[in-house]
Amino acid sequence: MNEDNLNQIKVVDSHAHLDELKDLTDVLIKAKESGVIGIVAVGTGIESNKKMIQIAKENPKFVYPAIGYHPWEIKEEEIETNLSWIKENIHDAIALGEIGLDYKIKLKKEIQIYVFERLLEVACEFDKPVILHCRFSHQKVFEIVKMKGINRVLFHWYSGPLNLLDQIIEAGYFISATPALAYSLPHQEAIKRTPIEKILLETDSPVSYQGKEASPKDVLITLSYVSRLKGLDIFSVSKRTTANASQFFNINF
Ligand SMILES: [Zn+2]
Repeated sequence: MNEDNLNQIKVVDSHAHLDELKDLTDVLIKAKESGVIGIVAVGTGIESNKKMIQIAKENPKFVYPAIGYHPWEIKEEEIETNLSWIKENIHDAIALGEIGLDYKIKLKKEIQIYVFERLLEVACEFDKPVILHCRFSHQKVFEIVKMKGINRVLFHWYSGPLNLLDQIIEAGYFISATPALAYSLPHQEAIKRTPIEKILLETDSPVSYQGKEASPKDVLITLSYVSRLKGLDIFSVSKRTTANASQFFNINF
């Protein structure tokens, strides 16, 4: 890989919680310098969604907001307020996320499913792609998005069952890779099995991987692991996954 090619590396971080990062200005500069040409900032609730829209406004053509309602943030008494807020503000977002089901938390499954289905109806109505969180709930999440007829679906940080992954690929959905590829066998297996045409790169910043807090520039780490696992050079993987992200989000990154 010569210098020229390295300068041509252009990657998209398709999943970052920018509102949770310290020294954001510096973080964004470092990302740009590393070859990051776009960041999808995912929201988790009203306050976080508002911040993402604001950060995106301050960084046009670089940060793109997704608004969501993370299962961890759901409180029964706030559900309707959150759902109406999302519907009223969806025009400001390129996608709906982070949304999904988390069966490891205490919140009742019925409540999570109710919120998830309502959000998918918004995605359908406004033709927005969805960014999904699943924990011990992959099968159910898959069944619901399929049933709701959602076309643009991204299973973020996929490390679920491999037989379900085959159905996810078959349905034309995408999965995203994180720096956890350094150590997570289920995540590695998923990336090995998925065609490069269906893979997006991300960091899930500021998640800590092996004790180190991630920021969007670390999407280059994800890029390098995906390249290794797929046996492809980093240049072609960056080009392909950026094209995938453009296709999925309908954005010209
Ligand atoms: Zn996340």
